[in-house]
Order: sequence, then structure tokens, then C-alpha cells
Amino acid sequence: MSEERLAALEAEVKELQNKVKELLGCALNAYEKNHERREPERRSPEWTDVICSNCNVACSVPFRPKPGRMAYCRDCYHRRKVEKSFQLAEKE
Ligand SMILES: [Zn+2]
Repeated sequence: MSEERLAALEAEVKELQNKVKELLGCALNAYEKNHERREPERRSPEWTDVICSNCNVACSVPFRPKPGRMAYCRDCYHRRKVEKSFQLAEKE
């Protein structure tokens, strides 16, 4: 293989490497853009200020309570959960 041919091949390889880098950069950018676009769909729960239906304490819940539905503060929610499980246990 002549040196000229070798130099030409090396230049070609370098060009291809640059192209690969460029394409990888594009792919990475596209991926990041997609990722960014998907991010808002995984938004954190919507905290809503409510008054606890049990102890009348102002608190916030990680969802939007339906109108007319009871909303409980964290303490009452857990207490109700425990009471419910006891009631279920008694029924059995
Ligand atoms: Zn409460």
C-alpha cells in the first residue's frame, strides 16, 4: 500500500469518525429533547389545601378531592386506615 493511499485512508477514517461524533451528538440531543418532553407527564402530585373532615385542621392532600368527598389530614387518614383494617378484621 502506497503512503499516499494510506494518508488518504487515514483522512477518510478521520472524516468518518467526525461524522459518527456528529451523529452521536444529534442522537443524544434528540434523546434529551424527548426526555425533557416526557418529563412533565411524570409531574408530582397536585397538592390541594383542604380542611380535614375529621379534625378541621387545614392541611394539604396530594390529589384534588372531588367536591362533596371527605378529605382527611395525614393523621386522620392513617387513623381511618387503621380503624378500617380493624373493622375488617372484626367482621371476619
Ligand atoms: Zn384530621
